[in-house]
Amino acid sequence: MKKLLGICGFAFITAVLLFSLMQCGKTDLISLTESIKASEFVSEIELNFENENNEDIKSGVGIVACIINCVGAMPYEEPSAIEIELLQFVREEELLARDVYLAMYALYKIPVFRNISNSETIHTTAIKALLEKYTLADPASDHQAGVFVNSTIQQLYDDLVAQGSVSSDNAMIVGANIEDWDIADLVDHLENNVTNQDIRYILTQLYRGSRNHLRAFHAHLTFRGINYAPQYISQELYNQIVNSGWEVGNGFCLCQFPSTNLQASDEMSAN
Ligand code: MN
Ligand code: MN
Repeated sequence: MKKLLGICGFAFITAVLLFSLMQCGKTDLISLTESIKASEFVSEIELNFENENNEDIKSGVGIVACIINCVGAMPYEEPSAIEIELLQFVREEELLARDVYLAMYALYKIPVFRNISNSETIHTTAIKALLEKYTLADPASDHQAGVFVNSTIQQLYDDLVAQGSVSSDNAMIVGANIEDWDIADLVDHLENNVTNQDIRYILTQLYRGSRNHLRAFHAHLTFRGINYAPQYISQELYNQIVNSGWEVGNGFCLCQFPSTNLQASDEMSAN
């Protein structure tokens, strides 16, 4: 009898457990799986925080100083009018990405938006370091989230936030769209507009970051069964990026550190 009670008890507990598992809604399971998947896409700044013991770096102060020192140490080459214009544009372009992702994170709490917004903070800081080096006006000296001096960027921000606010699926499309646009811009600048070594170096780092961001949004979109069609870069370049591995590299002037738990892809490395 005791044995029977034991078996019945076990069966009962198993049934309760099974029932509880079945009660986990489909949405919960999807968001849990997606979060686990998203956690694979750690932003560069978080890699840095994880791997560096320096307290300044952890607080974010050190990495900013590190980037400014690094850019300052490269040869001083008077930038052309086109280089000046693009630096001022990219400064706000990177902030647009950061602010849209922050708005999407506030709405959906999906980690990919927070992680990538951290990375965009580093990108805009690197451009700011170049503006400071050449004593150029900083359009974002008094930046407030979602407010831009450049009217094209302002319009784009408003449109993208409106689009992304409809659903989290739309927010992922917005993410891919921003990276698609950034990459097209960066490739254009690197191929046609920039000769300064320090500007080329920083834009090359931004390009590598954007490729990783595109891979992250592509992975989320694929997970959600959404097919993104690139609007600014070719389908060929899009496929080449999303079908190749995550790139770690040395970040900005060794101001960031490679992680041991992510695979670097040497063939795609822009360094
Ligand atoms: Mn960026
Ligand atoms: Mn990006």
